[in-house]
Amino acid sequence: MSDECCSGSYPKCQKCGKADLVPLSDFSNNSVAIRYKAWACTNKDCRFFIVLRGGDVYYGTASAEAAR
Ligand SMILES: [Zn+2]
Repeated sequence: MSDECCSGSYPKCQKCGKADLVPLSDFSNNSVAIRYKAWACTNKDCRFFIVLRGGDVYYGTASAEAAR
């Protein structure tokens, strides 16, 4: 049971397959921390992210989001 993988507990980025996805937290206006609201790839050339918003999951790349 040691082949779970190598570098810690974060899932691999499914886009670039090289870097990890790390959890990000957000703070609402009520100063209630929303843990793990978003996940982002640590590879800055990849910029893949997943965001939870209102119960829906959005995913894409930061560059595509900025182009809107
Ligand atoms: Zn990536």
